[in-house]
Amino acid sequence: MNSPHNCLFCRIVAGQLPSRKVYEDDEMLAFHDIHPKAPVHFLLIPKVHVDSLADCGPGEGAVLAKMMLKVPELARAAGCGNGFRTVINTGPDGGQEVYHLHLHVLGGPRGQWKVPLP
Ligand code: AMP
Ligand code: ZN
Repeated sequence: MNSPHNCLFCRIVAGQLPSRKVYEDDEMLAFHDIHPKAPVHFLLIPKVHVDSLADCGPGEGAVLAKMMLKVPELARAAGCGNGFRTVINTGPDGGQEVYHLHLHVLGGPRGQWKVPLP
């Protein structure tokens, strides 16, 4: 497992690196992606470090459920009333670049997205 001390997203949680916050509570943090792939593109992460979805177990079940249930509320608040896309890249073949579990939320008019549908 990554040491939280050198994990980019743990450092954002700790306030050691800046982020444009979308939402925060005791267990999770949402902030805008630094390289947005759509008009709305933010990341939702658990505050507790876990490398990826593949490293989650029953202990992460509660926070994962809370994150999933928070997504529609945050997406609506960000202006995605017409829909949004939720992505979790996992591992090298999944295209994961930052090894602190994060959920991408993408939205806005489809013609303006920089990523195609799968
Ligand atoms: P992934 O490929 O799923 O690991 O995606 C990592 C995402 O984190 C990419 O979309 C990056 O643009 C984004 N990212 C990397 N560094 C930062 C940062 N400091 N603040 C916000 N987003 C970031
Ligand atoms: Zn971390």
